[in-house]
Amino acid sequence: MSNLLDVQDLTIDYPAGGGAMWGGKRFVAVREASFSIGQGETFGLVGESGSGKTTIGRAILRLEKAAAGQIFFEGRSVTDFGRTTPLSYRRDVQIVFQDPSSSLNPRHRVGKILDQVIARHEPRPAKDRVRLRDELLEKVQLAPYHATRFPAELSGGQKQRVAIAHALASKPRLVVCDEAVSALDVSTQGQILNLLRELQDKLGISYLFISHDLSVVRHMSRRIAVMYLGRIVETGDANAVYTDPQHPYTKMLLASVLLPHPGERDRKRQERLQLRAQANASTGSLSATGCPFRSRCPSAHSRCAETMPPMVAVGTQRKVACHLYS
Ligand code: SF4
Repeated sequence: MSNLLDVQDLTIDYPAGGGAMWGGKRFVAVREASFSIGQGETFGLVGESGSGKTTIGRAILRLEKAAAGQIFFEGRSVTDFGRTTPLSYRRDVQIVFQDPSSSLNPRHRVGKILDQVIARHEPRPAKDRVRLRDELLEKVQLAPYHATRFPAELSGGQKQRVAIAHALASKPRLVVCDEAVSALDVSTQGQILNLLRELQDKLGISYLFISHDLSVVRHMSRRIAVMYLGRIVETGDANAVYTDPQHPYTKMLLASVLLPHPGERDRKRQERLQLRAQANASTGSLSATGCPFRSRCPSAHSRCAETMPPMVAVGTQRKVACHLYS
């Protein structure tokens, strides 16, 4: 499988605000992230909120600037495009956001929302655009009459189908799905995930599937990367990572997914987010040393505070950034 997208040692940082804690330094949102996505493949990025996964998606869409590293799309350097993103790239790479209510114009009917994007990418007479619009609606399993509805008149699942149709209008090669089912109830999640897979089979699209939910990412992806505080800490075959996690953080993430009671899962998630915020303050700077997970890791030892663990191969298809393996 040839690579459609290559992300190599991508680092993204921001001014840290100049407060006393940071002393005007920079905060690293993503640190040396590397992965690739093949043609027609789904690659999953999983991690808690603030782990950097959305920032990577935004960098691929050129909404964030790389401080270091490269992104290649079919061998072309995306990071070297300059100020204006080429139209061909804007067609080839699209995004589906978590909340379709914020990405769809509430004052326009669905037909107008889709017509605008069709007209931008495929200038055609109005009659042809109506046909293309109805074909798009059919692709996402909506009916032509849905074109007459306002977003507020649709269910959450229907709105997300319109958002997917909007992304498909330019015939993209890669779609970044950023928490695309997180706001939906469980049965609607399943329907949208199945729709995304069917569209992939029919159209050969690649997905970067971003979610905080390890079980959803596993369901969708062939390979996944687990992120913690801006770093990829484990990557490999999705089933292998899910059934036999190696990094202590992946084990913690999986243990919380497997908790039977939803209330307990939410409580654990809140705990993790609080601990992550504390860890973030000490490890997010450019000059941070040691493993970012050390304050929460049950296996931490003296070396973990001294040096950042490198990514090392564990077996043939797994990589892990942890001193237990290096
Ligand atoms: Fe835990 Fe150390 Fe591995 Fe980090 S490097 S995950 S602190 S054992």
